[in-house]
Amino acid sequence: MAYPRQPAPGYGQQPHGQPGQPAYGQPAYGQPAYGQPPPAAGPPGMPHGADPTLWSWFIAVDTDRSGQLSVQELQSALHNGNWSHFNPETCRLLISMFDRDHSGTINFQEFAQLWAYIQQWKNSFDMFDRDRSGSIDQGELINAFSQMGYRLGPEFAKLACLRYSRESPQSIKLDDFIQCCVQLKVLTDVFRQRDTNTNGVITIDYENFLTMAILHMP
Ligand code: CA
Repeated sequence: MAYPRQPAPGYGQQPHGQPGQPAYGQPAYGQPAYGQPPPAAGPPGMPHGADPTLWSWFIAVDTDRSGQLSVQELQSALHNGNWSHFNPETCRLLISMFDRDHSGTINFQEFAQLWAYIQQWKNSFDMFDRDRSGSIDQGELINAFSQMGYRLGPEFAKLACLRYSRESPQSIKLDDFIQCCVQLKVLTDVFRQRDTNTNGVITIDYENFLTMAILHMP
């Protein structure tokens, strides 16, 4: 197996697909209907230029009114296609990616960026979910890895499906798909840094391997 021929989407980058679609089971937001005047003012306390619907949603899930979302609060805001909540590991991973001030929580601006990032992954997920089942099976994952530029064989896709699936037969929901893709990207980047002659092979001793894993496993 080797790393991607082309850059894969990663931290804060746009994955394949177009942004803009609301996630499964979540309300569309933002645009006033044709012929309606734009809202004169948003809800109280809304930051200037914020999306009113996204702000209302942020307020609704910020149950302790701290102005910040914890992992648990974020989890209550994010759903997969079957209305199951995002798993806590993916929520923790997403918060760590967008928590710019390292507070362990995310404010509204960080939430808005996180939300846009999820929509981009949702578009990719829908594109790879070719049978529209609402999950990515092994065959679809093989294609997804290939489309994202990873040169990985079917055995790896089989293993990843086992690792990231919570269902039987194995298939991956949106939250686990995001987790899988982010982890793959981070570890690929670490490998690539050491693979100075880009032949897809590195030599690493035991302690360095553990150090690499501890420092970089998201
Ligand atoms: Ca599918």
